[in-house]
Amino acid sequence: MAQPNQIYMDYSSYCPIEPRVLKEMLPYYERYFGNPSSPHSFGVQMKAGLEAAREKVASLINAEKPSEVIFTSGSTESINAALRGAAFRNKEKGNRIIASSIEHISVRNTLKYLAKNGFEVVYLPVDEYGVVSVESLKGAMNERTVLVTVMYANNEVGTVEPIKEIADIAHEKNAILHTDATAAIGKMPIDVNRDGIDMMSISSGDMYGPYGIGALYLRRGTRFEPLILGGGQEAGFRSGTENVAGAVGMGKAAEIAKAEMAQEAERLSKIRDRIIKGTKEAITYSFLNGHPTLRLPNNINMRFSFIEGESLVLSLDMEGIAASSGSACSSKTLEPSHVLLAMGIPHEEAQGSLLLSLGRWNTPQDAQKLLEVLPNIVRGLREMSPIAPPGVR
Ligand code: PMP
Repeated sequence: MAQPNQIYMDYSSYCPIEPRVLKEMLPYYERYFGNPSSPHSFGVQMKAGLEAAREKVASLINAEKPSEVIFTSGSTESINAALRGAAFRNKEKGNRIIASSIEHISVRNTLKYLAKNGFEVVYLPVDEYGVVSVESLKGAMNERTVLVTVMYANNEVGTVEPIKEIADIAHEKNAILHTDATAAIGKMPIDVNRDGIDMMSISSGDMYGPYGIGALYLRRGTRFEPLILGGGQEAGFRSGTENVAGAVGMGKAAEIAKAEMAQEAERLSKIRDRIIKGTKEAITYSFLNGHPTLRLPNNINMRFSFIEGESLVLSLDMEGIAASSGSACSSKTLEPSHVLLAMGIPHEEAQGSLLLSLGRWNTPQDAQKLLEVLPNIVRGLREMSPIAPPGVR
């Protein structure tokens, strides 16, 4: 955990493992071993751990059958498998894929690959809060649409999307609905049946489980072809000897999330709202990015005119606060976030954004400390900024 004088507010870039999860996993490294496909008692014990974990993940998302949960190496793999597997398997129906314009880079790059391989990808606009336009989805749907993919909640601005409505529209034309729920899993209740989800990508790391394991929810009967071929594990949908310890960890993380999510969401949303309100009050020209109410309980994304997010992150780090200026997965590019640009935020403003993602070990005192240091940091950076008008601090 963080040192006493350090504050971690970057849970969406990396989420530490829960001690209760690690405890559950350790016997699978220290005591139990064997291939879960082996018929002997070593294998049977591993298989039992794997299947118990599958049930826990299925229960978190209210899947009808545990067998609809396929373990993968994480969200990126689940997304690749879902989009490529559904697109290629259904190509005789048509070649249109519809996606939101604020998807994570793992979805965007998979769609680019599909576009190079004969699919036509249509991107839906979002409004100023990052909510996908349901009207434009209706307009874009046709008989040749095989797949619609819209994230459950956005990892940068925290906006929660109207997935149920989107699923209903997709289903009217018999298209498959995939959602990337990486940012939402464990933070808000997700029910694949209530929400009409056919395929869903989640990872364990984002809910205090280990990294290197995730899952693809695949509704029974969904036409799909596997991405990874081999020994036929995971009912043939994802070959390769299973990561049992990882799955056990993901199962425990899912169990904890199910039991504690409501209470934790309430606790974090109070800290979140205090930071948003306090920042707006203390700093002129500061704005909330994303929806004021339809947002993840742990997400704060704010922009500050006349300064750069990167300098803010470095200055906060010097005060012992770890934050981010956007998606860690896209931080290799110096471009402003495609999510903020899609929301109509001008290029220069988008670069002045700060992403604070809260988690289990944040306290109200952390909000207090942040609110003590942030106004001074912004003032200092604006004093040095060549574009800040005189008097704006
Ligand atoms: N989708 C979203 C919304 C994400 O935030 C991330 C990264 N945490 C991913 C997909 C990819 O997840 P991973 O890097 O664990 O494969």
